[in-house]
Amino acid sequence: MALSTRKKTVFVDSDILVVGGGMAGCGATYEARYWGRDLSIVCVEKANIERSGAVAQGLYAINCYMGMHWGENQPEDHVRYARNDLMGLVREDLGYDIARHVDSTVHKFEEWGLPIMRNPETGRYQREGKWQIMIHGESYKPIVAEAARKAATQIYNRIMVTHLLMDAGNANRIAGCVGFNVRTGDFYVFRAKAVIVCAGGASHIFKPRAVGEGMGRTWYAPWSSASAYALPIVVGAKMTQMENRIVLTRFKDGYGPVGAYFLHLKTYTQNAYGEDYEAKWYEHTKQMVGDYVDRHPVPTCLRNHALLEEVKAGRGPIRMVTTHAFQDPHKEQVGWENFLGMTIGQAVVWASQNIDPKHTNPELTTSEPYVMGSHATCSGAWASGPSDYAPAEYQWGYNRMMTVDGLFGAGDTIGGTAHKFSSGSFTEGRIAGKAAVNYVNDMRSGQPQVSDKECAALKKTVYQPMENYRIGRNEIVGGTVSPSYILPIHGLQRLEKIMDEYVGGIGANYTTNEPLLTRGLELLQMLKEDMEHVGAEDLHQLQRTWELHHRVIASESVTRHTLFRTETRWPGYYYRADHPKLDDADWHCFTLSRYDRHTNAWELEKAPVYHIVE
Ligand SMILES: Cc1cc2nc3c(=O)[nH]c(=O)nc-3n(C[C@H](O)[C@H](O)[C@H](O)COP(=O)(O)OP(=O)(O)OC[C@H]3O[C@@H](n4cnc5c(N)ncnc54)[C@H](O)[C@@H]3O)c2cc1C
Repeated sequence: MALSTRKKTVFVDSDILVVGGGMAGCGATYEARYWGRDLSIVCVEKANIERSGAVAQGLYAINCYMGMHWGENQPEDHVRYARNDLMGLVREDLGYDIARHVDSTVHKFEEWGLPIMRNPETGRYQREGKWQIMIHGESYKPIVAEAARKAATQIYNRIMVTHLLMDAGNANRIAGCVGFNVRTGDFYVFRAKAVIVCAGGASHIFKPRAVGEGMGRTWYAPWSSASAYALPIVVGAKMTQMENRIVLTRFKDGYGPVGAYFLHLKTYTQNAYGEDYEAKWYEHTKQMVGDYVDRHPVPTCLRNHALLEEVKAGRGPIRMVTTHAFQDPHKEQVGWENFLGMTIGQAVVWASQNIDPKHTNPELTTSEPYVMGSHATCSGAWASGPSDYAPAEYQWGYNRMMTVDGLFGAGDTIGGTAHKFSSGSFTEGRIAGKAAVNYVNDMRSGQPQVSDKECAALKKTVYQPMENYRIGRNEIVGGTVSPSYILPIHGLQRLEKIMDEYVGGIGANYTTNEPLLTRGLELLQMLKEDMEHVGAEDLHQLQRTWELHHRVIASESVTRHTLFRTETRWPGYYYRADHPKLDDADWHCFTLSRYDRHTNAWELEKAPVYHIVE
């Protein structure tokens, strides 16, 4: 008897289904309840929302707060900032929409018990930088999760969502999702009128610097497995800016963040010979990107670029000069607490390498690329904008609805809106939650239908990797290598190698070109064929298999977008060696893609960037 037929199927009906209970998912769940008092609101999460997502370990700063009631910043200022940092290309309507609501989100966090530091002189929130406020954030996620738990009809933890379901009567309308419980193995069919995807970003699609024993040591959460992109891509949602992968400058080996060090502790960088190097690369960078290098603050990618060039010139390693700041006991304490509240691993790495930043300037490095929509980058789904602010071309339905009817998104899922971070992601979740309630209320009786046949077929597909293992393991005569299946870890390593070597990872100095990308796509195609033969030993490996599927789909999207944009828009994130300069004449635009699962074809197009804010 096939394994899938032995698994129990659990059906769950709801009005609004939130996929992923991280920052955005908690915001969506919370707000959907506020506007939809009588609606059934379900949140499904592959881990446990108490400590899930990128904020699981806690944070030391909330990176997006305007401070409007103190006259510190206005939403328009934030749009200008994000636009500048992304070399001109952001969805200003979406960014403005988040910025105008984000302060109220942060005030709620404080009400719910999040300790926010105060400036003793002004009584205002303690600023780390222009946009960041400092928090004692070790329990940030549990506090936010509690609000979602109280708001939801039910939270389903430990369920890995593998596929979205479409309405049997309307090929472009969402109807729910399927997944499996990673502990019990039960198959779940969630039927819903609206779905909000909040499944975080993507790490481990490019080969990380730390491999083998250290492969979980990446900057972005290793469990951020690209579901936010793969789920919508497979059902035909348009994606935008998927080429805009992000590379982070971080403390070496532990990926400890540098924000508090630069902004609050006023530490600075220098090359191996104690020289300031950034200014040296000014003319060189100007030739590549023109006036963008003169913008203030200097865009994140360009700061990476100077570091990369200095290292290529043989004057690495680059170090953060901490030895001056750390002589001040207050700054020393802040420096350590910064890690203990969110990246304990960095403190441990320093201890293990005999680095006391009071006496030794620690090394910096650049990470492998990640795909996400909430940091200094804006990959993700193409979404409809707010009705009072978005240009007509960016509006086709409800706020934050993708190009699939009833399918919404927030946080890392939604493209074009950089610099939303934790608070902005929660805020965008709230915006999507409210819009989804309106969608459901307007739908009245016209409920989407889920086909039993489709569910049965998906059930078979979901458990097939366990079936592959069950049969294939009989052919093993020694060790773990089977002639008829590959293990998820093998597939992951193969994906990371392809992306690294062909699509501009660390091994290629972030550089690629058309022939490399074309070959990369061929190799990805072969990997996709082999994905049908992954063998999963147990439920844990089954989850790894589906995470890998999602990573492969997102990787193909990244590769196709990178091929489409024939310019180097963000030096420091990646380089098209065959188009080494920024080209505003042809590419001051968004890139959009749509995948057709029936024909396996991808369509790419340009969409205009509207500058709404002066
Ligand atoms: C190292 C690091 C440092 C950061 N520092 C800061 C900072 O200092 N300040 C700040 O404001 N922001 C910071 N951020 C950014 C912030 O964490 C993100 O902006 C925010 O978490 C994005 O919210 P999200 O809901 O989109 O994703 P997440 O919060 O990552 O949530 C995604 C959720 O989806 C779940 N999920 C994924 N796939 C599936 C699936 N298939 N089925 C079911 N569930 C699924 C995940 O388990 C997770 O719970 C940092 C991020 C990182 C990684």
